[in-house]
Amino acid sequence: MIVVAAACGLVLPAIPAQAALEPCAAGYVRLTFDDGPHRTATPDILDTLAAHGVTATFFVVGQMTAANPALVQRESQEGHTIGNHSWDHPDLTRLNSAQVESELQRTNDVIKEVTRTTPTQWRPPYGARNSAVEAAAERVGLTSMVLWTVDPRDWADPPATTVRDRVLQAVRPDSIILLHDGTGANTPAALPMILNGLAGMGYCVR
Ligand code: ZN
Repeated sequence: MIVVAAACGLVLPAIPAQAALEPCAAGYVRLTFDDGPHRTATPDILDTLAAHGVTATFFVVGQMTAANPALVQRESQEGHTIGNHSWDHPDLTRLNSAQVESELQRTNDVIKEVTRTTPTQWRPPYGARNSAVEAAAERVGLTSMVLWTVDPRDWADPPATTVRDRVLQAVRPDSIILLHDGTGANTPAALPMILNGLAGMGYCVR
């Protein structure tokens, strides 16, 4: 019953403190990591996710995947979802349709080669998209564009506690949280604090 109330968004003030500690009482959020894989940040983040028993989505860059295939393989083997974040992270709205298709198709190809799975989810670099970009994505089978609702700007490298605070202050039921593995040296240190904070607020990650 508590979960039902939480899903309606009525919740936290009305729920006694003890009930708020029920797992997932506050609802669910999604964690996403962009721009990787990265040689040191990605394994660190994967270790933390495994220790907390949660899965995330990694929007990988194609050329980074080609350079570090074992890391994307590990992401996939550990139950995380792999999404397409273009081959080399351009602003896709500045390219013609053939170039956009190439950016996304090459990345699909390397993800398929490494994980034996073809992605359907994608995220445009910088969130930059228009109807031509979205149509090109559809043509290469990327049917689900995933943006975000919580952006702690971890790529600019604020202290880990700042990244944590920005996430926990902005989070709502069904938030999609944007983080980075690679651009943002403090993100691996912020992640355990974020996960503990979310759990303490009654959120589950899925
Ligand atoms: Zn990015």
